[in-house]
Amino acid sequence: MKKHNFNAGPSILPREVIENTAKAVLDFNDSGLSLMEISHRAKDFQPVVDEAVALFKELLQIPEGYSVLFLGGGASLEFCMVPFNFLEKKAAYLNTGTWSKKAIKEAKAFGEVVEVASSADANFSFIPKDYTIPADADYFHITTNNTIFGTELKKDIDSPVPVIADMSSDIFSRPIDVSKYVCIYGGAQKNLAPAGVTFVIVKNEALGKVSRYIPTMLNYQTHIDNGSMFNTPPVLPIYAALQTLRWIKAQGGVKEMERRAIEKADMLYAEIDRNKLFVGTAAKEDRSRMNICFVMKPEFKELEADFLKFATERGMVGIKGHRSVGGFRASCYNAMPKESVQALIDCMREFEKLH
Ligand code: PLP
Repeated sequence: MKKHNFNAGPSILPREVIENTAKAVLDFNDSGLSLMEISHRAKDFQPVVDEAVALFKELLQIPEGYSVLFLGGGASLEFCMVPFNFLEKKAAYLNTGTWSKKAIKEAKAFGEVVEVASSADANFSFIPKDYTIPADADYFHITTNNTIFGTELKKDIDSPVPVIADMSSDIFSRPIDVSKYVCIYGGAQKNLAPAGVTFVIVKNEALGKVSRYIPTMLNYQTHIDNGSMFNTPPVLPIYAALQTLRWIKAQGGVKEMERRAIEKADMLYAEIDRNKLFVGTAAKEDRSRMNICFVMKPEFKELEADFLKFATERGMVGIKGHRSVGGFRASCYNAMPKESVQALIDCMREFEKLH
């Protein structure tokens, strides 16, 4: 049976990315060695990092003066590296869910943290819009896509202080104006690569402004100075990331990714809104294109387990919602084909007919 992979992350990658990576795992560049057996300093590997950095810059139109880094530790380590490198006295954070909360917790160890707004009281079902960013904050931190709660900030915001964004689950799903940020980071395991590599886009001149000692490995400058090769980088996920970046470019770039994301999300939300059994959990204007969350309407609540079974039997994978929201979550990342979204919609319609 064909499987439709709606996993939230690690998640679906383009088939050719998996095939090309598998080929390199067996024999890297006809070297007779596996990608897993070569030095990250081998002359054939440096071009992989160089091309991945160049494609990052090209696809996101990153202006001069920014560096692209491939690190370990996941987005979770960035929750601590960001304040280590940027927080001198005070930072502002927008609390839009579990991942924002984790970022806030780490920042509090480094200085004053102002939570400018939070949607916690509404189980993070919307993104607060009414707030003031303190003009004396060192930076303002946002989570652009809230993977668990299915809300997304789909536009770059204006801020009186430098913006730092966790874009773990929506990077490369729309064009972004990188000049509005001093740092953008994320775990790669959604739209980019298998788990194991973290991407960081950082504005060079924004660094070096904190007075504390920053441990070598946690200092962005170390990784800029060493081209992400200060220590052994995650070679295999970087290779896979390069294949994805090539794929995005060949498909037409981030504008095309955005067009497809809108098309898929519109299709699924239209069905959620039409179907008598289901209801979306996120405020309409903040609905994520990447993680589409919905539950059974209260009067059909007892059908939840039945629908999960019904959908699973028809090839849907990973649609169980996160425990913080319940119900269902269909993650529709870049590599998700429209046909899979249609298959889920067909499932929802069939199930509706039975009830
Ligand atoms: N931020 C967001 C928005 C996420 O979705 C996740 C993981 O799902 C994380 C951070 C944590 O990433 P990692 O597991 O790479 O530390």
